[in-house]
Amino acid sequence: MRLDLTRNPRVFSLLKSRWPQFIIRAATLAGFVFTILAGLFGSVVGSHNFAIIFVWIAWWTALKLIFIPFGGRSWCSICPIPMPGEWLQNGGIFQSRGHGIGLGKQWPKFLQGNWLQAGGFLIVGLFGAVTLTSPKVTAIVLLSIIGLAIIMSLIFERRSFCNTICPIGGFTGLYAQAGPVEVRVKDAKICADHNEKTCYTACPWGQYPLALKSSANCGLCMECLRVCPSDNIAVNLRPWGSDLGPKTKHRLDEAFLGLVMMASAIVDSAVFLGPWGQLKTAAYSIG
Ligand code: SF4
Ligand code: SF4
Repeated sequence: MRLDLTRNPRVFSLLKSRWPQFIIRAATLAGFVFTILAGLFGSVVGSHNFAIIFVWIAWWTALKLIFIPFGGRSWCSICPIPMPGEWLQNGGIFQSRGHGIGLGKQWPKFLQGNWLQAGGFLIVGLFGAVTLTSPKVTAIVLLSIIGLAIIMSLIFERRSFCNTICPIGGFTGLYAQAGPVEVRVKDAKICADHNEKTCYTACPWGQYPLALKSSANCGLCMECLRVCPSDNIAVNLRPWGSDLGPKTKHRLDEAFLGLVMMASAIVDSAVFLGPWGQLKTAAYSIG
């Protein structure tokens, strides 16, 4: 059972235009820059600093309670981190792919998948005690992430950073398979007859909508919907857990990332919520 939101003309024109998404992304980018400034120059007490309150309490809670359960990878469609790099790659804010600067190299095959994202998740978890409480460290982490995303955009094609490095993208991608939103094609025959495959050329995530069996690596950016000359892209509401059946091929790296996430949740609960004070002391001494 699916409900295609693009059948509603208002929703369709909202998704087709780049403006609504740009306005939201500009606001998240401004919030991101303000958070970095607050972390660097604001109060050193975590509980009094905007960076800690906004990132680790407000945004983190919204990500887990709203964005992921009701929109799968919806955060990625408005995330500010890939924006500057993507603008350079595209040669403008409203350009589609490939008009700007950058070497456009392919990300090495042996580094594809969720392996590096699992590593990033482990590092953030290991040093969680300091990352989650020190405004300066939070600001430095955010600056490093956006810096790396820009550098990768200038060297590699498409969103290599989002696809392979971003730890947030890794776990939102896993959850997106159970999320209630998907981008799919309406009529496979129309795609088969369309030689140019403009949707694939335009997709910043390197996805071909006709081949999508899982929503793990679709960033819900709507570029395919904007460039499809036949308006053949559907944005479906669907039952939760739709990609989890045997029809979808699941990979070893996804399973590994899932294990890392589960282990991190167990360890964090034991350290920060459990009755073992010495564990907490040890965590703060690591970082
Ligand atoms: S993968 Fe990470 S950096 Fe990319 S859009 Fe998603 S959250 Fe943002
Ligand atoms: S398939 Fe479409 S919505 Fe998904 S990432 Fe690619 S262009 Fe964006």
